[in-house]
This record gives sequence, structure tokens and C-alpha cells, in this order.
Amino acid sequence: MAFSKLGLSDPILKAVTELGYQTPTSIQSKTIPVVLSGRNVIAAAQTGTGKTASFVLPILEKLSQAQTQRKKRVRALILAPTRELVVQVERNVALYSKHLPLTSLAMYGGVDAKAQKQALIEGVDILVATPGRLLDMYTQRAVHFDELEVLVLDEADRMLDMGFIEDINKILEKLPEARQSLLFSATLNNQVRALAKTAIVKPVEISVISDNDAKPKIKQWLVAVDKDKKSALLSQLIQEHNWQHALIFIETKQGAAKLVSQLEKRGIVAEAFHSGRSQAIREQLLADFKTGKVGLLVATGVAARGIDIDDLPLVVNYDLPFPASDYIHRIGRTGRAGATGEAVSFLSKDDFKNLCAIESKLGHIIDRVEVEGFAPKKPMPVSILNYVPKAKKQNDAKAIKEAKASDSRDPYANSKVPSTTTKKPRTPKPKIGQLTLNKGKSAERGKESAVRSSKPKPSTDNKVNPWNN
Ligand code: AMP
Repeated sequence: MAFSKLGLSDPILKAVTELGYQTPTSIQSKTIPVVLSGRNVIAAAQTGTGKTASFVLPILEKLSQAQTQRKKRVRALILAPTRELVVQVERNVALYSKHLPLTSLAMYGGVDAKAQKQALIEGVDILVATPGRLLDMYTQRAVHFDELEVLVLDEADRMLDMGFIEDINKILEKLPEARQSLLFSATLNNQVRALAKTAIVKPVEISVISDNDAKPKIKQWLVAVDKDKKSALLSQLIQEHNWQHALIFIETKQGAAKLVSQLEKRGIVAEAFHSGRSQAIREQLLADFKTGKVGLLVATGVAARGIDIDDLPLVVNYDLPFPASDYIHRIGRTGRAGATGEAVSFLSKDDFKNLCAIESKLGHIIDRVEVEGFAPKKPMPVSILNYVPKAKKQNDAKAIKEAKASDSRDPYANSKVPSTTTKKPRTPKPKIGQLTLNKGKSAERGKESAVRSSKPKPSTDNKVNPWNN
């Protein structure tokens, strides 16, 4: 199907063509006509499938048909979990609306609110915001929702994981009931469905997750290793496989800083990316990582959430995340749009229960590779695919629920279910890598905020097009 058949007008088609998009992705051809028809939507689609354009393009179409904006009013509100994602989504809005007289603004905390307030005074057509800062602005009467036409909850599962449910509910209470509502989430687990129930009336449900063209081709493998050998192992793999561009996920910001200095001692240059670094530094690091000036980025999972890089060849899970859906998100940073990617994970004793949950969710065991000199002192068992961890901490309970839920929409799931306890050593040959790790959500929460206004729209900020690779 061509973009021109979707019911979008010329200024939008022109912008899309200028970006080099040739055909709509699966989520776009399914979602755009439904949104244009005015229906509410809940969609299972993750970053990398083209989901942003699937809601932004029809919203632009809708808003461009009338000009009713008043001071401090917004017509479309897109809520997203992190400042990085907010910035990224707003950048797309600006690119797609390049030939339309519509305005947009990215709003997030951690920065002075003055500029945001100023930008809101004239009203904006499309506001992309993190929940916390938006509520602040609402409380200060800097923004009103009485003219709101469309609400989007983007990466709803991440927002819930990050504990934004209260803020979201408060925001929902303030929105007009007669609005169009759209929800996007990598997984439609029970929590997300519960949110959808309160936020979205009679939605059409859309999923692209089982479509082949949306399924990233990611080669996953892991190495069992004792915790104190992880940094030496990483150094060896980086050197052996000449890993030039990788996102390495680690659990804590202290861990990130330590790992960077351990790599440095072995002659490897890497940068730490976490909430302890200033916004300006993070933005610079992100830009440098995108251009390849920074090759190896050691990031905490929360900080890395909004990182959107086409052509990222490798993700490394220096620590295995929990809940299992974090693993899916992390490895989704690579292998986008049909490109092949690689996800390498380190498995130490402490990570074993996380691995069980991850493999249960995937529905298959991840290939293991033995690296000479790094075998753990005690052999690591093969995990059990129907593993259901006991909830020890209250915090874990919701993630465990998720692990139990047989989510057939999992983009990476397949039905290869090997029998449980047989050891299945496999030895794929690793090539390139990249990483991620994440857990310290609470530590990094609340950092969402920081401004980024975008009234003047960027003009020629063309990006690499992953679908054309
Ligand atoms: P998203 O899943 O929205 O984060 O999009 C991932 C990447 O795909 C972004 O860099 C978009 O610019 C790009 N993209 C979105 N739709 C298309 C399309 N139809 N053709 C080519 N690239 C696209």
C-alpha cells in the first residue's frame, strides 16, 4: 500500500516523501485509516516499527482541517515516559508537520519551566510531554485542556513501569470526555489493559507484532560468567570482535562509571550515560553516539529508554534486566526494520532468575556461548521455560504477573519450547554487539522533566531511514 492511499493530504505526503519514506510500515497502514476515521485505538507496537508516524500523521491531518487554537490551549497531547522519548517524538512531529501551519512543543522536567510557559502562552497544536511536568504546568495554570481533541499515551507500559499511573490518572480527569484517545505499548499486559479501560472508550485493537516485516531479526546469545569477571569479559569481547558501536546496559549509574574506568584501563574508550550526568552532557553524548563519534555507550536502562538509533548493530546486557519486558525493549534497540542486530547478555549467578523469566517470556532458550577463561566457578543451570518466580518483593509482583501472562503478541516469541532441564549448549559465532541494562528505575524516576521547545520547526533535519536499508 502507498502512503497516498491512506487518506493523508499533500503537505503531509510531501513531508513523508522528503524523509525518504516509500511505503507505510505495517502499523502505519493499519492504524492511520482507523485514526482518521475518528475511532479510538489501542495498539501493540514497539519502538522501531514506525509507530510514531502511525499516530502523528493522522493527528496532523485532523488538526490541519481546522484552526481553533486559543491561548494556553493544546489540541493534541502526547504523553511519553522519558524526556528523551518526548524530544524524539516532538522532533518527528516537527518533521512531519513541516508543510503545515501547526505548532508543537516538547515539555519535560529537570529544566527551568519559564521557556515552556512562554511557549504555551500562544497555545500549541501538539504538546508532547512527560506526565510529571505536564501536571506541574497544569497546576500553575500554564496549560488548559478544554480544547483538547486527541490524547496519545505512548509507550504506555513504560509509563506504568516507571510509576506514572497516578499522574496519568490525574491528567485523565482533567481532559474533555469528547476526545479521541490512542494508546501505544510494546506489550498489552494486564496493567496496560486496565489503563486502557479507564482512558479509552471502545477502542479498536491493533497489533503488528506477529507481522514478519515488523519482527526484528536479532541474534541473541549469552555468556555465563562470574560477576567479578564481567568487565574483563566485556573488554575481551570488544577487542576480539572489534565492537565499534554498542549500547551497553548496566544496572546502576555507579556501575556505569566504574565500568567505563575499567574499560579505560584496558585501553577501551566508552562513555557513561545516566541520570547523574547533566542534561547538556547527555544530549551531547546522544548526538555523538548517533554519529558514531562515541562508539560504546554504557547506559542505565532508564536513561537509555529514549535512545532511538537506526542501524545500531549491538546491544549488550551487562546485567540482565527485570522484568523480562525490559529485555525485550532493550534488544529492540537493534535489528530494526529488517536490519540484522545482535544482543549479547552476561549471565552471572545473581541474574539467573531474571534469565528464567526472560526465557519464559521469549518462549525459547537463548543460545549460550562459552568464552575460554571465563567459565563460572559453578556451572550455571539451563533455565526452565515455564519458570514462575516467587514474588519476594512487593516491587516484583507486577513484573511477575507479566512473566506469567502468556503474551502471544510478544514480537520475539516463537514456539520453540525445548524440554526443560536438558543442557543445550549452543555456539553461535558472535560478530558485533551492543548492550543494555536497567533496573534502577526508582533512582532515575522523577528526573523526567526538562524543556525543549519547538515552535520554530526544524526544516531539513533528515534522518536515516531504516526501512530503506
Ligand atoms: P518509531 O518506531 O516511530 O520510533 O520509528 C523508527 C524509525 O523509523 C524512525 O527513525 C522513523 O523516522 C522511521 N520510519 C517511520 N516510518 C517509516 C516509513 N514508513 N519508512 C521508512 N522509515 C520510517
